[in-house]
Amino acid sequence: MKFFRSGTAPVRRPYLALLLSLWAIAAPAQTKYPKGYLLFPIMPGQPNYLAGNMGELRPNHFHAGLDVKTQGREGLPVYASADGYVSRIKIAWGGYGNALYLTHPNGLVTVYAHLKSFNKTIGDYLRRQQYDRKTFEIELLPDSTLLRVKRGDIVGFSGNTGGSGGPHLHYEVRDAQENVLNPEYFGFTEIKDNVAPVIDRLALVTLQPTARVRGEFGRAEVVPAKVASHIYSVKEPISVWGKVGLELLTSDLTGGTPNRNGVSRIEVQVDGQPVFAHHLETFSFDVSRSINVHVNYDQYLKSHNRFQRCYVADGNELNTYTTDRNRGALTIRDAELHPVVVTVADAYGNHTQLRFTLRGAPPVAQAAVVTVNNAPSSPWRYDVSENTLLLKRASVQKSLPPAALYVKGRPVALEMAYHKGKDAVYLWDLRRGIPDSMGTGYKAEATRFNFRAVVPAGKRFLYEEDSLNILFDERSLFDSLYLETVRRDNRYQVGRADIPLRETISVRLKPNVPEEKRSRSAVYLVSGGRLSYLGGMWVGPEIEFKTKELGTFTLAYDDDAPFAKLEVKTPSRIVCRISDNLSGIGKIDAYLDGKWLLMQYDYKTNLIWSDPINGREPLKGHFVLEVSDKVGNVKKLEADL
Ligand SMILES: [Zn+2]
Repeated sequence: MKFFRSGTAPVRRPYLALLLSLWAIAAPAQTKYPKGYLLFPIMPGQPNYLAGNMGELRPNHFHAGLDVKTQGREGLPVYASADGYVSRIKIAWGGYGNALYLTHPNGLVTVYAHLKSFNKTIGDYLRRQQYDRKTFEIELLPDSTLLRVKRGDIVGFSGNTGGSGGPHLHYEVRDAQENVLNPEYFGFTEIKDNVAPVIDRLALVTLQPTARVRGEFGRAEVVPAKVASHIYSVKEPISVWGKVGLELLTSDLTGGTPNRNGVSRIEVQVDGQPVFAHHLETFSFDVSRSINVHVNYDQYLKSHNRFQRCYVADGNELNTYTTDRNRGALTIRDAELHPVVVTVADAYGNHTQLRFTLRGAPPVAQAAVVTVNNAPSSPWRYDVSENTLLLKRASVQKSLPPAALYVKGRPVALEMAYHKGKDAVYLWDLRRGIPDSMGTGYKAEATRFNFRAVVPAGKRFLYEEDSLNILFDERSLFDSLYLETVRRDNRYQVGRADIPLRETISVRLKPNVPEEKRSRSAVYLVSGGRLSYLGGMWVGPEIEFKTKELGTFTLAYDDDAPFAKLEVKTPSRIVCRISDNLSGIGKIDAYLDGKWLLMQYDYKTNLIWSDPINGREPLKGHFVLEVSDKVGNVKKLEADL
C-alpha cells in the first residue's frame, strides 16, 4: 500500500478534505427496485415500525428481510404486495413458522413469515394437503394457475409462529435468482428513518505474529466519544505495528422505536485513501453463513457483541465488499501518524463518522533477565488466533529463558515476545509447523499441545485416530484449521468452539456404550453446560453424526418419554402441553376415532392444538396422542371427548 510507505514527514491530512471527499451514498439501480411497485404488506399507508431490518446480524446468517412490528398483537391482515400467485407454502415448527411465498410477473418474490394463519382459500388448500400427507410440517409448491392473488388481497394474518421472539411480520423480497433484496429500497413511505447509526466500539486486532496493538499481540477495544451529532472520535492516537485489522461495533436506529437494527454500509479511509467498503444491498442465502467470518466470531461467543470486521477474512464469500489489494487489512511499518475515517450509513443515507489516528510503534525488545515466581500448578496457557499460537507463562517477574518448542520431535528455540503484566508471552507462527510440546529451562517446565493435523480449507480431508474420524468436505472450513482433539471417556473435543465452520463435517466416534443402550443414546453438543441434541447413526459400536459447529461432544442416554397433558377439550379445540427433557420433541401424531388429526405446534409455549377437521366438524370421539422424542421414546395419551 503506497500510502503507508511515504517514509517522510508524518501524514496529517485535514479532516475537512476527507469530509469533502466522502463517497456519495450511491442509490441502488432503479430497475432492480421499481419504486411504488410493492404494496406495504401490513397496515399500508400508515406509519410502521421495524423490529429488525434487512442485513441485520443474526446467528449464522444476515437477516433477510424486514421485521415489521404488529402492535404486540397477532391476527393483523397481511396483504399481497403485488399481483401474482402463491408459489410456495412452507409450514415448520421452527424457522419461518407458517410462511407464504408469492411470485410476481416481473420475477420478484415476496415472502410473509411467522403468520398465524392464511386466508380461507389458501388455508383450505393447505389443510387438505396436510391431511392427505398426515403431516403438520409441509412444503408446497403450487403451480402458477392454482392460487392467484391480486395486489392488496388479504393473504393471511400476522402471527408469532416458528422461531419468532414476539408477534411481528417477517417480510422479504427476492429477485428471480433467489437473491435477497433490501425492501427498504422500494420506496415504502410507511417506514421513516431520519436517525443516523451509532458507533459503540472500535477494536484493533493483530493479523500476524509480528503485529502489535498497543504493544501487544491480540486485540484491543476502544470506546469512542461522541463529539458532535453524527461524529465520534478517539482522542489519543492508537499505537499499532505490522498487519492489523479494524473491527466496528455499530448499529442503526430508526425513529419511533428503541430497536437496534443493522447498518447497510461501512466505509474506511486511511490517510485519505479508501481501503474498505461493505455495502449490504443484496446477498444470496448460499453465502449468508459467511457472517461468521464477517464478524469476529470468537468475540461474539464471548460477549454477544457482533464486531464487524473492516477487512475481508479468508474464506469470506460475500460479494458485498470493495477494498484495496490488501482486502482492507492495514500494514503500518513506520513511526508516523495515520488518520482513519470510518463512515457508517443506513439504507436511507443517514450516516455517522468515526475519526481516529493510528500511530506506528515498533515492538520494544525485551531484556532477557530470569526471575520466575512460584508458579500456579499449571503456569502455561495457550491460545490460537488465526495462524498464531499464543503462549503465556503466568507469574513471571521479568522474563524467562528462551523456550524450546518441539515440532515433530525437533526442538526450535522460541524467544519471549513481551510481558503482559506478570505473563511472559511467546508467539509462534503455526505455518512453520504444529508443535507437540514445549519446555523451558526453568524447573524443566513443559506443556503439551493437542494439535493433531493441519486441515486445509477447500479440500476433502479425512482425519483418523483410534476412536475418532472426521471428514472435512470442500466447503466445511472457511480457513485452514489447526485441529486439536482430546478424548476423555465419552467426551470428545473436536477443534475449538470459537472457530466457525461454513458447512458440516462428518464425525465418527467409537464411544464406550453397551449395545443395549445404543438405540436410546445419541450425540449431543456440550455448550455452556447445556446439551443440545445432534443425533447420529449407529454402525455397530460406532456412531456417525454431522455438525456445523466445532467443540465438545458427548454421548447421552435418554429413556424418558416426553411429557404430555390434555389441557383443553371442547368441540372446537383440543389443546395439550408437551415437553421433553433431553433429546427433544421428534414426532407428534394424534388420532380421533382412529383418523389422523392435524395438531399445530408452538415449541415456544410447549402447546399443541387442533382445530376442527375441515374447519366445521366438532371434535368428538376417542382421542389418542402419541408424542415421540428424537430417540424414539413414546408417550401415549388417550381421552374420550
Ligand atoms: Zn425476521
